[in-house]
Amino acid sequence: MKKKFGIDIGYHKAWRAIQKVVACIRGTPEENYQILPSYLHMMVGKNPGTYTSIKRDAQNRFACMFFAPAASIAGWSYCRPVIAVDATFLKSKYNGVLFVVVSKDANNQIFPLCFGIADSKNNEAYIWFFGEMRKEIQVRRELFFLSDRNQSIANGIRKFFLEAHHGICLYHFEKNLKQRHAKATVINLFQSAARSYKREDFNQLMSQFKSIDKKTYNYIMEEPPERWARSWFPRRRYDRLTTNMVESMNSVLLKGREMYILRILDFIQEKLGEWFYERRKKANETFHRVSIWAEEEITRKMDLACKIFVFNLDSMLFRINSEGIEFIVDLKKRTCDCLEFQLDELPCPHAIAAINKRYLQKSDYYSNWYSRETWLKTYEGYVNTVEDQKSWDIP
Ligand SMILES: [Zn+2]
Repeated sequence: MKKKFGIDIGYHKAWRAIQKVVACIRGTPEENYQILPSYLHMMVGKNPGTYTSIKRDAQNRFACMFFAPAASIAGWSYCRPVIAVDATFLKSKYNGVLFVVVSKDANNQIFPLCFGIADSKNNEAYIWFFGEMRKEIQVRRELFFLSDRNQSIANGIRKFFLEAHHGICLYHFEKNLKQRHAKATVINLFQSAARSYKREDFNQLMSQFKSIDKKTYNYIMEEPPERWARSWFPRRRYDRLTTNMVESMNSVLLKGREMYILRILDFIQEKLGEWFYERRKKANETFHRVSIWAEEEITRKMDLACKIFVFNLDSMLFRINSEGIEFIVDLKKRTCDCLEFQLDELPCPHAIAAINKRYLQKSDYYSNWYSRETWLKTYEGYVNTVEDQKSWDIP
């Protein structure tokens, strides 16, 4: 900008000016829907492998759209098999709905998978959205979904992802309890029970819950614990208990939600482009064998591991004493009695104490999901924006 006009108006000011120009270029809301097919055509042209589709109603009016960027489709193979889904209202003239689907990367950051926009939040729109998602988002072993208790999401998963498990987000479940005016003590018991790794701990906490507030207990148990409690969850949950990840994505997209459809799509692509670039750079620059987050987790657990007594039972088998409680750690099988090691696929403090005792490499005991290599592969792709309409090449 400075070079061209000989003035330095500052990056952010220049950015805002460009945004205004683009808003003018993209036209009125009505024009937005007319231009949408060409826009999606260009989106695919600029990002080969990207999947887009539009659904129209009987009067040929816009009903829903779906898009999964090529970079996301490819990166998904390197994320843990967990998908969080959410739908939020748009604040633009048409009051539509934005669908956001994300996973988590090796560095424990949200990974964008696919998006959708519908003219209203109805069951039909959800079903269509899940049908489109099924076409592009590869089903993985041990896959599970996380969402609030929305029935349409449950219907979509049941229809198109029958092999996946559907878990309920603890944060949303807690919100339901607060709406029913449950006391803080029982909410804390619920959270601790849901987060317990062992069923005996879950049972003990829930029986305490029952003795304090039987009505709320019955309400909670209407929902099978397999859907919300870690110790009953039929899949490895990798410490993913809430849809926080999708919530944080929504807060990023908050600004975009007030825009017209094409500007929302511009905004999402700009954000994704930035994220892929920044994260690829960060992964490239790290000198650890695991992601920055995983390295920090090791450091955090090391402090706890220092206070633990370790006794060898065999070369790779250990008896651990932590504050008077005994655990058996098997480094060969990668298990610990606390269950954290095998469920999160990250060494627990007990396992770290055992690893330290043998002077072994801690990063060898982390699942590949957290490695630097996996992290890099996740962000190998690029997300390019659809530029000025004048540059479009539409057949
Ligand atoms: Zn342990």
